[in-house]
Amino acid sequence: MNQKKRKSHYHADMLSVEDAREKILSKFKTLNPIQINILESVGSVISENIISEINVPPLDNSAMDGYAVIKNDLLKADDENIIYLDVIEEIPAGTIPKLSLSPGQASRIMTGAPIPSGSDAVVPFEDTNELENNDKNKIGIKISVKNLENIRKKSEDIKKGSVIIKKGSLITSATVGVMASIGREKVSVIRKPIIGILSTGNELLEPGEKNQDGKIYNSNTYTLSSLVTEFGATPLIQKHALDKVEDLEKKLAKLKDVDLIVTSAGVSKGDYDIVKDVLDKNGDINLWSVNMRPAKPLAFGIITIDGKKIPLLGVPGNPVSAMIAFEKFGRYAIDKMKGKPLRNRPIIKANLESDIINHDGRRLYSRVKVIVDSSSKIIAVPIKNQSSGVLTSMHEANGLAICPSDIDILKKGEKIDVEMFNWNENISDILNNEE
Ligand code: AMP
Ligand code: MG
Repeated sequence: MNQKKRKSHYHADMLSVEDAREKILSKFKTLNPIQINILESVGSVISENIISEINVPPLDNSAMDGYAVIKNDLLKADDENIIYLDVIEEIPAGTIPKLSLSPGQASRIMTGAPIPSGSDAVVPFEDTNELENNDKNKIGIKISVKNLENIRKKSEDIKKGSVIIKKGSLITSATVGVMASIGREKVSVIRKPIIGILSTGNELLEPGEKNQDGKIYNSNTYTLSSLVTEFGATPLIQKHALDKVEDLEKKLAKLKDVDLIVTSAGVSKGDYDIVKDVLDKNGDINLWSVNMRPAKPLAFGIITIDGKKIPLLGVPGNPVSAMIAFEKFGRYAIDKMKGKPLRNRPIIKANLESDIINHDGRRLYSRVKVIVDSSSKIIAVPIKNQSSGVLTSMHEANGLAICPSDIDILKKGEKIDVEMFNWNENISDILNNEE
């Protein structure tokens, strides 16, 4: 290892990322359950056991388009010895067979249609002479079949009376389908948190507004709100506030019904950072220095709006810092409110393509793009400009390389830890190649 241990720069006044997260999470609890349509439930945690009132499939049915037969009729059937059966019925999907089979008989059957009584196998069309044969009342069979061949058994998917989805599980797209398959329309889930989003700054314009000298477009509202959606909560966006106490208070007042307010900017040391004053006046908010780069300054606490106490997370204004602060703190709060297990990102080992320098002894999250080269080596390529104002670096990166606070430099060629935040199409290669 080329890593050099650092002894200086110990930041006793800073909170570790983990301690800051723990303090934040202690102010959140799982939200209440609500009944919703299954179509709205993906990504939520289910708050009931789902017990099926039906069997799925409800009856033995055909897995192929073909002919329902009696296997013993076909013991000697093959290409050279076609065996002819009398066709007594046609059974489309969604109907019930009227006739039962006796030896020497077959019913033409479609995929999903119930098997007629007496039948114990289905022969697919391609193993019959249906195409060559003009007599609709007869069918020539070219194969022998095993017991239950091409038959899907009643209740092989779901047994009536069984618990098929356990309380506390995460609802995936497949879970929604399973609920639909037993005819469930509504389900009880932990409700989605509503996250109020409020950017602050006199310099901000909204996308769609005409560009002006000296102004910049507000991107934080848009990244934060997209992150909120990505993590399965509902963003409630307030138009950005000016650096004026009254404007900020007026806009905060509109967020009185949310589960968490995320503000951006005004938490570092600047003359116009009136956010701090407003938070001080209206709540119990603390300004922290977190031992990380980017996103050292952070505000967190409880703000009182109209007598309601609401957690508030103030992330820094710099666009990369705002995203990384949300990634490290905000998303965990959402998961906790949703009743989900708190999960860190998967960490992979990658070969570093060029040095990463840690010059002030904080835990460094360096934006990298992880790629797999032609010899299947996993390489972390640091994005050139690591300024916390350069938002395109987040667009280019798919992971954050972690440099511990007590290490000065991660050297080119070293194996380093990368937290993957974007699974791109390379990731299956990456995981397959991991040591
Ligand atoms: P501040 O935290 O107010 O000192 O802002 C730090 C930097 O982030 C400044 O360059 C701001 O212009 C920029 N910034 C603040 N808010 C936003 C925002 N909503 N979107 C994009 N950049 C912002
Ligand atoms: Mg500002």
